Amino acid sequence: MCEHHQPMSERQLSRRGLLRGSVATVGLAVGGSSLLMAGTAHAADFYHPFTGYQLTGTWQDHLNRGSLGGLDFGMNVGTPLPAAGPGTVTNIPYNGTGGHTVTISHSNGWRTQYMHLSGFSLGNGASVGRGGTVGLSGGQPGAPGSGESTGPHVHWHMINPNGVRTNPLDFLGGGGGGGRLPKTSTEQDGVPGTIFWQRAQKWLSIESGYTGPIDGAPGPNTYAALQRNVRDHWGYGGPIDGVMGPNSWAGVQRLAAAHGYTGPIDGVMGPNSWRGFARFLNQDRWD
Ligand SMILES: [Zn+2]
Repeated sequence: MCEHHQPMSERQLSRRGLLRGSVATVGLAVGGSSLLMAGTAHAADFYHPFTGYQLTGTWQDHLNRGSLGGLDFGMNVGTPLPAAGPGTVTNIPYNGTGGHTVTISHSNGWRTQYMHLSGFSLGNGASVGRGGTVGLSGGQPGAPGSGESTGPHVHWHMINPNGVRTNPLDFLGGGGGGGRLPKTSTEQDGVPGTIFWQRAQKWLSIESGYTGPIDGAPGPNTYAALQRNVRDHWGYGGPIDGVMGPNSWAGVQRLAAAHGYTGPIDGVMGPNSWRGFARFLNQDRWD
């Protein structure tokens, strides 16, 4: 939905990072509750504010068109945009292709950015709590602040303390706000169970736009994200309809083959296919 070739604001903000100490002091002086968070903000202080909106652009979609990354959520112009976590606000009007942009600097050194806004809600340097409104969504083509947006939506991403743009769902650990998952025994027994599917949902939330619960009970949304992944990486050319057929499973088997599965790519999942898939899912990065 939008293009972000223009990392200027991130460079400017990296320089701002040098001032983080004084910014944090402002936050402490203004927001009493942020005293509790000072220097210790972690994933549990954050949440995914857009779970109720349709994901119209995945992280991979952004990378595919040369963007540094982001998530797009379709919503009517003027929708209040909640802060994903407590922090200090910086408004960047007319931020190139990103249009009106709000950056929230969090006390753990991470930043959250919201782009293509139609309006700002807070002043520069203001403290905002988790869930506080930082601006109003925009994105109508040609409207002031829309940048190069092609339709109403918000573009959302995080920037890690090293200045690298990061998928918020990666930071959040699948939108659940923290907590590590155990390894799945499917790698040994070849039978997928709840932990196996929880790890798959977490992986798909990070890589392929899955925004549902990490509950280990796969449904059409989990399978649609799995199809997006095997379309983007494992040679699947069919529809993204949330219904796994032999071609979808063959894509999964190709992934499994990259992780030790040596059987046929026939679209029929057996214990050895599941074991290869589980070996992939048991990597620490999907904990
Ligand atoms: Zn975007």
